[in-house]
Amino acid sequence: MAYDKNNIFAKILRGEIPCEVIDEDEYTLSFADINPQAPVHILVIPKGAYTDWSDFAVHASGEEMSAFFKAISRVAELTGIGKTGYRVISNIGPDSHQEVPHLHMHVLGGTPIGPLVVAKG
Ligand code: 5GP
Repeated sequence: MAYDKNNIFAKILRGEIPCEVIDEDEYTLSFADINPQAPVHILVIPKGAYTDWSDFAVHASGEEMSAFFKAISRVAELTGIGKTGYRVISNIGPDSHQEVPHLHMHVLGGTPIGPLVVAKG
């Protein structure tokens, strides 16, 4: 899938749409999800134009990958869920119900969030 530079997260990165920034570095931006599914629900995104995890895995540099992993861990520490536990989810493509075609990790915590989702059917 070609990258759509007008997706919502691209607009957030360009400063065209506001967000509640939790953390930022050269390669990543982390911000609060607008429709939180847990007391802590942060989205961690790379600043580069990657549609999803598969695109990132194939095309991102080592520096970008390293920064992305570290940002997820840093956000967990910054929000306090590093101590209590948290879940990291990335939706990739239609069957996962990915809505925004810019790679993002959902970082969820702040309460027991139940068993891992199991697909039916
Ligand atoms: P997906 O379904 O693509 O994995 O998740 C997209 C996420 O982006 C959803 O959890 C949704 O609430 C969040 N989201 C959509 N639009 C905005 C927005 O304009 N600002 C913020 N902060 N989050 C958004």
